[in-house]
Amino acid sequence: MIQDIAPHTYDPMYHDQTPKEEDYLLHYEYNKVMLLREGDGCRLPTFRDLRGEGDFDQSAYYLFSIDSRAYFLVTDMSMPEFGGYVMEPLTIFRSFSPLHQAFAGITGSQIYRWRQSRRFCGGCGREMEPSHKERAMVCPGCGQTEYPKISPAVIVAIRNKDKLLMSRYARGSYRRYALIAGFVEVGETFEDCVRREVMEEVGLKVKNIRYYKSQPWAFSDTEMIGFTADLDGDDTIHLEEEELSEAGWYTREEVPDYGPLISVGHEMMKAFKDGKI
Ligand SMILES: [Zn+2]
Repeated sequence: MIQDIAPHTYDPMYHDQTPKEEDYLLHYEYNKVMLLREGDGCRLPTFRDLRGEGDFDQSAYYLFSIDSRAYFLVTDMSMPEFGGYVMEPLTIFRSFSPLHQAFAGITGSQIYRWRQSRRFCGGCGREMEPSHKERAMVCPGCGQTEYPKISPAVIVAIRNKDKLLMSRYARGSYRRYALIAGFVEVGETFEDCVRREVMEEVGLKVKNIRYYKSQPWAFSDTEMIGFTADLDGDDTIHLEEEELSEAGWYTREEVPDYGPLISVGHEMMKAFKDGKI
């Protein structure tokens, strides 16, 4: 999965520090990221690459570290016109190499979206300021503190003996098969969310809900919590057509192999195909 970056080590803690030349600079504009073209591909630029493009020491916001290299967000800059810089859609990180840089690039975008959406206090309207102690935005007027947005969502592999339930989304550009998933509501346990989402989207009951693995999924500011479950009773699917265009029961042979398994949903589909869950 996209966060499985061993032997590299991700350090999520906030450190109040300024960038060194070898640290990485992440610059986003809406749903695009600035990359540096190199050979046939692209890579994340460092502060050394952007030397001479401006003084970023004051505006660079510490994001996280991987091994001994830190990653910083820089918002108030424009892309250099020369030197091979390009703005690429964030979906590039679904198939970016090396994997730890894909993880860094998409994880940084989650902090970028949070910073952009917390520029002003929702309580009193004052301009928010970054905390120097933790990853938070603080209002100098009323003291309101905002932490990064992380929305929990469940995803569930539903088994019916030797078959797996797979579906396709009705909207958006994603056309591959997927498992049933949905955001956790206020006051809801993960298990209750699994039962509710499955009933809403395909009209089925499930039992034996078991935790599988979790996964940070920065593409949608989400923490995915994966579960397996078994069908309980009638296997007739009643599709919620607002959400899904199709859903059905598929044998292990019919479950597709989508190659690199960056998401927990695809990892569970592959695990079912291989007879592991
Ligand atoms: Zn305020």
